[in-house]
Amino acid sequence: YFISLEGGEGVGKSTQVEALAAWIRSKGHEVVVTREPGATEIGKRLRAMLLDIDNTGIDARAEALLYAADRAEHVATVIRPALARGAIVITDRYIDSSVAYQGAGRELGTREIARVSRWASDGLQPDLTILLDLDPAVGHGRFTEAPDRLESEPQSFHHTVRGAFLDLAAADPDRYLVVDAAQEPDVVTTAIRHRLDRELPV
Ligand code: C5P
Repeated sequence: YFISLEGGEGVGKSTQVEALAAWIRSKGHEVVVTREPGATEIGKRLRAMLLDIDNTGIDARAEALLYAADRAEHVATVIRPALARGAIVITDRYIDSSVAYQGAGRELGTREIARVSRWASDGLQPDLTILLDLDPAVGHGRFTEAPDRLESEPQSFHHTVRGAFLDLAAADPDRYLVVDAAQEPDVVTTAIRHRLDRELPV
């Protein structure tokens, strides 16, 4: 069973990933927690290239292909092997981040980026995608980690990204759970658990 968490900056993805992993482990499942970009050795190098705050000049298509390369390596060496041995995989970001950031935010086209991502992942889709939805102005205020290159983008970029995530969720409501991330973290966790209780293999 494969779960992706998606959303903009400062929506609380990593907090929710950890809470969910602990909860699912307590039910006796093996859980693999992972993320994009940067889950593999190659991925760490790609992440540094993509997100270094000093890196202001990468061509949008080159950027999209580096994210796709990170995903290809991630799927082939981490996600598929874990799923094959029956683990539940939770990834912090996946294809929808590329569609939202590179497809919509960088205006490369959401369908083209979805196609590139499908190829890079060899067609691996999550069973469930959890979208943590938040006004980018609120998300930005929450940010405590070291800033990365994307955080210097104008608010309009982050609004476009948010809209793209919501469009993806609206187009495939069975695969998505959209949660209002302005709520307290434990309220968000409860909403996600409620959905997973119905869907997780026992
Ligand atoms: O979630 P995390 O903080 O690890 O994301 C790192 C950065 O990569 C964020 O600034 C996010 O906006 C950006 N990103 C992106 N395109 C992707 C995935 C992440 O621009 N496909």
